[in-house]
Amino acid sequence: MYLKKIEMKGFKSFAEHTEIIFKPGINVVVGPNGCGKSNLVDAVRWVLGENNIRELRGQKSEDVIFNGTDKFRALSMASVEIVLDNADGLLPLDYSEVAVGRKIFRSGESEFYLNKARVRLKDINKVFTGTGLGKCGYSIIGQGELEEVLNGAPMDRRLILEEASGIIKYRQQRDEVKARIASTSSDLVRIGDILGELK
Ligand code: ATP
Repeated sequence: MYLKKIEMKGFKSFAEHTEIIFKPGINVVVGPNGCGKSNLVDAVRWVLGENNIRELRGQKSEDVIFNGTDKFRALSMASVEIVLDNADGLLPLDYSEVAVGRKIFRSGESEFYLNKARVRLKDINKVFTGTGLGKCGYSIIGQGELEEVLNGAPMDRRLILEEASGIIKYRQQRDEVKARIASTSSDLVRIGDILGELK
């Protein structure tokens, strides 16, 4: 799997429709300070479901929408789409290319897309969990984050290793099953009470 393309419109400093194509292997993005290199990484994090705006160097969710300059007026919507090559089938979808999209409006409403079809954030998380690219993924290491990992709490480091080894999805499935068992057990208790009253 590799990142083939990023398309953006209205995302942070990328007011106009911008398309960036990547090739397999190492790609390097260079440019002067403040030209938008980190905004590009923010776009990838954001489209993959990052909802903690501080991780994207903002204060509120609308801060990812282009807020205008002397020459251009502020926009009302930001959209990002990334296209991933999935020829190796790492993503559990029957497509050799997977497009993930996200839009946000000034109202704060956010929409997610998987191969152009509207989905929930939960669906996106499901596709990427265990691949290293999801929300808890280790594929994107921001400035200063390496130090954070090295000095991090044992549990935080454990989560990174679980994600890298692909077992985090089983932890999530186990937690879901545990929650379902707990809810079924309480239903059974309730049914027991009702049957007791009927006797
Ligand atoms: P450096 O090399 O210094 O780290 P960089 O190339 O990574 O810089 P970014 O941090 O990606 O630069 O971009 C910063 C620029 O993005 C700033 O000029 C900032 O004003 C602009 N910017 C951030 N959010 C928005 C927004 N919502 N609307 C318009 N411009 C924005």
